[in-house]
Amino acid sequence: MIEREHEIHSHPNFEEYQEFIASHPNYEGLYYDRNKSGRINWVVAGKSPKGHIRQRWWDDKCRELGIPLRKGCYAHVARLIHPTGLHVCQCCGEARSIFYEYPTKSTALLLNMILGTEIDSDSDSDRVECTIKDIIEGWCDTREKELKLANAFGLPAPDDRKHLVNLVYKHLVAMDSRRFSPGVMSNPPDRYDGFHSYGLCCRTKFDKGRQVENMQTYGQDRRAYEDWSDGDYNLANRLMGEFRKQPPMRCPGCGRIAKMSADHIGPISLGFCHSKNFAPMCGRCNSSKNNRFTKSDVDKLLRIEADGQQVISWHSKYIWDTLKYTIKDDRDAKFASSVMAKCHQNVLNILALIYRKTGPEFLSIYLHPEFSLIDYRFDNVDLMNLDKLEIIATPIDSKNKRNNQERYQRIAFESLDDFLKKKNRKTQFLIDENSAELDEIVECVNACKYDLADKRLKCLIEKVCDSILVKCNLDRANEIEFDTDI
Ligand SMILES: [Zn+2]
Ligand SMILES: [Zn+2]
Repeated sequence: MIEREHEIHSHPNFEEYQEFIASHPNYEGLYYDRNKSGRINWVVAGKSPKGHIRQRWWDDKCRELGIPLRKGCYAHVARLIHPTGLHVCQCCGEARSIFYEYPTKSTALLLNMILGTEIDSDSDSDRVECTIKDIIEGWCDTREKELKLANAFGLPAPDDRKHLVNLVYKHLVAMDSRRFSPGVMSNPPDRYDGFHSYGLCCRTKFDKGRQVENMQTYGQDRRAYEDWSDGDYNLANRLMGEFRKQPPMRCPGCGRIAKMSADHIGPISLGFCHSKNFAPMCGRCNSSKNNRFTKSDVDKLLRIEADGQQVISWHSKYIWDTLKYTIKDDRDAKFASSVMAKCHQNVLNILALIYRKTGPEFLSIYLHPEFSLIDYRFDNVDLMNLDKLEIIATPIDSKNKRNNQERYQRIAFESLDDFLKKKNRKTQFLIDENSAELDEIVECVNACKYDLADKRLKCLIEKVCDSILVKCNLDRANEIEFDTDI
C-alpha cells in the first residue's frame, strides 16, 4: 500500500500542506529529507532506520506532554500538536478535520429525525461529508431553532451559538462515541504529520481498489489544466478553499443540503481560465458535470467577457471564438463541450511534446509565476452572491515568493510529463512526436526564435482545432452521439 501511494501524484494543496507542516515549530526536530525533485519524503517505513529516528521523536513528545507510552499514544499526540486541526487530502486536496466530528449515517438519520435537518445520508460511504458542527451551525440560523436544538437534547440554551453547538457535540459524543469518525485516520510514525495521506473522503475509494488505474491519475490532468491555463490561480485556489469553509447549504443543482464545492463556470478541462468565476455546487453535481458546460453557463461566460474579463486561456481562444455564438441550447452546449475538450487535450499533448523536445525555457513564456506573488483573503463571503465578495490582496514575503514560484513552475512541467504518460485516453491525438509541424516549432525554439515559435505553435493549434471541429460536425450530422469523456 505504501509503495503504491508513493507512485501516486499529489494534489498541489497537499504539497503546500506538507511544506506548512514540516516548517511548523510544533514539529521541530522531527526528521525528514527531500527527494531529487525537492519534495519532502513524507512517508518512511516504521521499521527502517529513518522510521526509528522518527519514533524516538514521538516518544519524546509523549513524555513532554505527559502522555503514557501505550497503544494509541502517538495518535493522541498527533491530534494534540496539529497546528490547525485540518488535514489536507493527498488525492482531492480538500481539508478535513482530524477530530471525530463526522457523523456516521445513523447519527445523520438521528439528527434528521430530531431536528428535521436534511443531511444527505445516502452516499457511498458510511460517513457524512460535513462535520457535525458545520451541519448544526448551517441549520441553526434563528433563536427559535437554537431553543429547539437545546430542548431536543435537554441542554441549556446559551446565547452564543458556537457554545451551544459545542455542547450538543459533546452531548452526542458522551451518548456514544462511535457516532462520529475523524476526517482522516492516524498513522504515526510512518507519515510525517501522523496521519494517512488520504482523507477518508478518498481512502474508501482507494481501499476498494476500484479503478486503481484511474485513481492514480486522478488530479494529474487537473494539474495540467490549472497550470497551463490563464487566470490568477492563486486567487482561484484561495477562493475554492473559502467554499470549503462555508456551512452546508441547499445545492442549486440538485436541491439537497450539502457542503458546496466551487464549480468553474467555464470548465478548466475545456481550456477556460482557472479564475475566480465560480458557482456553488455540491460535490456530486460538480463531478457529474465535470467536462461540460450548459447554455446558461455559456450565457454567463459571454456576459463576463462583455464586461472585459478574460474567460478563455490563450490556447483555446480560437475554438471558443469559433463556437461561442453558435450555441443556442443545452444540446449545442454539450456538443461545444465535447469539441473543446478534444481540442484542449490535443493542445496539452502538443505542449508536452514540445517540452520533451526542447525543455522548459520556451514554454515558460506561457506560465504565470507572477501570480505566486500575492496572497488573498476574503470578506463578505456569500456563495449565492459572489459578486459582493471583497478580495483583500497581500504580498507574500520574499522567501515564500521564490518557493511558491519554483513549485508552481516545477509542477507545471511535471504535469506535462504526466499527461504524456497516461494511457488509454479516449481522445485521439492529431500530432505525434514525428510530426513535421512540430519539428518546425522545435527548430525555432532551438534557434531561440521564440516569437516565431509562438506564432507557429498558435497556427498549429488552430489547424488541429479546425480538423477536430470538421470531424465532430460530420459525426453530429451522421447522428453519432458525441461524448464528453476524455
Ligand atoms: Zn480526498
Ligand atoms: Zn447537487
